[in-house]
Formats: sequence, C-alpha cells, structure tokens
Amino acid sequence: MKTKTFFHRTIIFTITTTIFLGITGCKKDNPIIPPEDHIEAAGLFILTNKHNPPADTVAYYFKDSVKNGLTITTSINDAEQLFSLHFLDENGKTLTSPTDNDHTLNWEIGDTSFVKLQQVSGEQWRFHLFGKKEGNTTVKFFILHEGHNDFTMGNNTFPISVAQ
Ligand SMILES: [Zn+2]
Repeated sequence: MKTKTFFHRTIIFTITTTIFLGITGCKKDNPIIPPEDHIEAAGLFILTNKHNPPADTVAYYFKDSVKNGLTITTSINDAEQLFSLHFLDENGKTLTSPTDNDHTLNWEIGDTSFVKLQQVSGEQWRFHLFGKKEGNTTVKFFILHEGHNDFTMGNNTFPISVAQ
C-alpha cells in the first residue's frame, strides 16, 4: 500500500515537472535539445567579395544596434557578388558558423520587389543578392534551430541599396 502511494506520488511529480518544463521551457531550458547545440550569437556581420581588398564589411550588428554608415550594395541581377555571413559572440569575437543542417538561415526583406536573396547551393551562410529594380530596401536575419530562433536582430534591419 505504501509502495503504491509512493509510486503514485512519483508519477504525479513526474507529470507535474514535465508540464512545468513544457510551460516555462524557453530555448535555453529546452530539455530535449542540449544547450551546447544552441548558437549563442550576440551579433553578425556580412562580408562581400566585390571590393579590393576582398572581405569588406558591408553590414554589422552587435547587441541590439546596427553600425551606421554601412550599406549592402548590389545591382540588377548581380550574380558575381557573393556575401558571407559571420556571427559574433558576447565579446564581439567571430563565432565558428554551424555546419550542421539543424541551423538554417532565415531572412526578411523589407520590400521584395527590389531584391532577391539566394543562398549559394548547399551552403547556409553565403548568398547572392539579385537586384530587381533600382532603389532602397532593408533586410534582417534569423538563425532557425529546430522550430525556434537561436538568433534574431530584434527590430533592427540592414539597409540595402540596388544600383542600376
Ligand atoms: Zn536553439
């Protein structure tokens, strides 16, 4: 009898704990995904191969602010220019970009009539920006990780300028 009561209590405790974790489980506490699998990015920057020397920074976001004076510039149907995205840790150091398929890049373009973003085939963190018409719009990036965002830019966006 005593054993049975203890058994029942254990079950009730387990159920309660599971429900509790289910409600409060944010991405850092998710009991299914090990914490080391989440990307703890505090920022990102974008390089282009267009300029000489290559690897000019064309966009920089760190701890809820976008660096002023930088613009991602492309032109109509520009297939030669290649952009690469790199993440920063809490100290502003470049993180190793994930190579697994569980982390995917997502983005939001302010006005898709100006530009189209296309990832390099088989790569998550490199892409082309094909201008569609001359003008300005914006872009922001996310890292998707198994149904939740490991990284967002909040309300911040990068400016994009499409030249002729
Ligand atoms: Zn995650």
